[in-house]
Amino acid sequence: MGSFAQFHKRSIADRDNFWAEQAKTIDWQTPPQHICDYSNPPFAKWFVGGTTNLCHNAVDRHLKDRGDQAALIFVSTETEQEKTYTYKDLHLEVQRMAAILQSFGVVKGDRVLIYMPMIAEASFAMLACARIGAIHSVVFGGFASHSLATRIEDASPKVIISADAGSRGGKVVAYKPLLDEAISLSSHKPKAVLMVDRHLSEFAKVDGRDFDYAQEREKHLNAQVPCEMVESTHPSYTLYTSGTTGKPKGVQRDTGGYAVALASSIPNIFQGKPGETFFCTSDIGWVVGHSYIIYGPLIGGMATILYEGLPIRPDGGIWWSLVEKYKVSVMFSAPTAIRVLKKQDPALLTKYNLSSLKALFLAGEPLDEPTAKWISEGLGGTPIIDNYWQTETGWPILTICNGVEKAPSKFGSPGKAVYGYDVKLVDDQTGEELTGANQKGVLTIEGPLPPGNLQTVWGDDARFVNTYWKTVPNKMVYSTFDWAVRDEDGYFFILGRTDDVINVAGHRLGTREIEESISSHPNIAEVAVVGVADQLKGQVAMAFAIAKDASALGDATACLKLEGEVMKVVDSQLGAVARPSRVLFVSALPKTRSGKLLRRAIQAVCEKRDPGDLTTMDDPMALKQIQDVLG
Ligand code: AMP
Repeated sequence: MGSFAQFHKRSIADRDNFWAEQAKTIDWQTPPQHICDYSNPPFAKWFVGGTTNLCHNAVDRHLKDRGDQAALIFVSTETEQEKTYTYKDLHLEVQRMAAILQSFGVVKGDRVLIYMPMIAEASFAMLACARIGAIHSVVFGGFASHSLATRIEDASPKVIISADAGSRGGKVVAYKPLLDEAISLSSHKPKAVLMVDRHLSEFAKVDGRDFDYAQEREKHLNAQVPCEMVESTHPSYTLYTSGTTGKPKGVQRDTGGYAVALASSIPNIFQGKPGETFFCTSDIGWVVGHSYIIYGPLIGGMATILYEGLPIRPDGGIWWSLVEKYKVSVMFSAPTAIRVLKKQDPALLTKYNLSSLKALFLAGEPLDEPTAKWISEGLGGTPIIDNYWQTETGWPILTICNGVEKAPSKFGSPGKAVYGYDVKLVDDQTGEELTGANQKGVLTIEGPLPPGNLQTVWGDDARFVNTYWKTVPNKMVYSTFDWAVRDEDGYFFILGRTDDVINVAGHRLGTREIEESISSHPNIAEVAVVGVADQLKGQVAMAFAIAKDASALGDATACLKLEGEVMKVVDSQLGAVARPSRVLFVSALPKTRSGKLLRRAIQAVCEKRDPGDLTTMDDPMALKQIQDVLG
């Protein structure tokens, strides 16, 4: 333990030596020759000349010391399965999966799309890709055919790995029909689709394209597939995320930088140690799942719990019972999940022995004070540690690095800038840095981005530069698109997005994507979607639409019918995760005279706030109508 201020300062001022030290915590086949190549900003290349492999660092290198220890603990309260895979077991399963991929002709650099529920095979699939140098692209199982199709189109995978179905709250959600539709919508066709059949839902097989995982696995039971050592800068995966435009961006991650960043974060941020258990309740479809269900804990030699199910089924004590049973030392969840648990019997928090738990980390959305206090008190004072980051960054930007130096948390703040991140608040108009306390600015990171952050947008370097980077006096800064202030002690407070992205239960959604989907309904002429504050989910999407044929809206029942139809369109195209909480009908939408939708004014009215300066508004009655339909 040392001083965090010094640790952080060194990571910026003596960047290469700092990261050269951190790089020693992973295995390299060839050690890096050049720590950071930033000769072509804003593209940063980390650990140039080094060759390594993510799967080797997550699995193989632990075989000697902890081969018989737990690596992956799969728990499904949906199918009542519970199975522990040791590092040796995981090694075998990953090689079998890798051999199957190779039998389909997958080689280094090929993309493999993974559209799967939270089952052990999903982790075998990710690790198998990393093992052979293939680039995985996991698509969240809650996304539907249209979302999936845009990702298939962009990633052009040689193989897709999927399953017959997921299950949520005891309800089977069939994946295969959505996958088949997505493939038919996409101009790119995969060579093979590998199906894990859980026998939850019958599905049609396409001859010559679809293969059964169990049958293929049988053919490769004794597979020995060595790790393909790749350059540090070789892409390990892409993960799609939403932004201002309707088209999701493929965030591209490297190999060496990511491995080093995660390896360093386990002790320094999460205080995790080899042999302990990490329980992250996210989903492999999100970045938190990539970094802290799969790669981070395994690189750190820990056991990781992969959980399929709800936090309140069979009862609200299920997660805590797992903490007791598997002696979880690090737990990672999202504020929404805790708000769900808050509605359960508080005695469930004290029923289990939670003495193994060092801290509960929460991320993905703002952590409100009542939720933080409730869980902190309920867990008998276990530290609750907020952390702020993004799909793009791969690991936390702001938090309290208790593994470096213990420091207090402040309610409402995710903490200070993490080592490696040169965080600057800038004025959104002038780009000037705001150095005073409590000044509101855009949270930016001065380049080069630290290891583990996105390399570029898949297949679109120009989009990477144009979307994220701004040249402010003398330097290039990466924009997080979040407003923030920093107090006199260096603690940041996040104040919301600067763009049209909303955050529903920790899921990042683009309002434009939802608008595009709603507009595809034949009777919708125009629509505006905004994020509205919600007690449980943080935010929910609300839609205000203009019908092409207003006669279809004769009475309340007719409006409800069209609302239901629109929701179905969103469900089937994007997935229930993007479904607006309400679709209300109006005859005009508030716009500026130049025709720009005034989403912020609509949002303010929905949240019963002052809509602010409306002098540029074209038709004031449009906002009045929004107020009226809200009732
Ligand atoms: P995602 O890329 O899906 O992880 O979403 C990233 C966005 O979620 C950030 O840009 C923030 O707007 C929000 N976010 C993530 N973590 C936090 C946090 N701890 N506090 C407040 N907002 C957060």
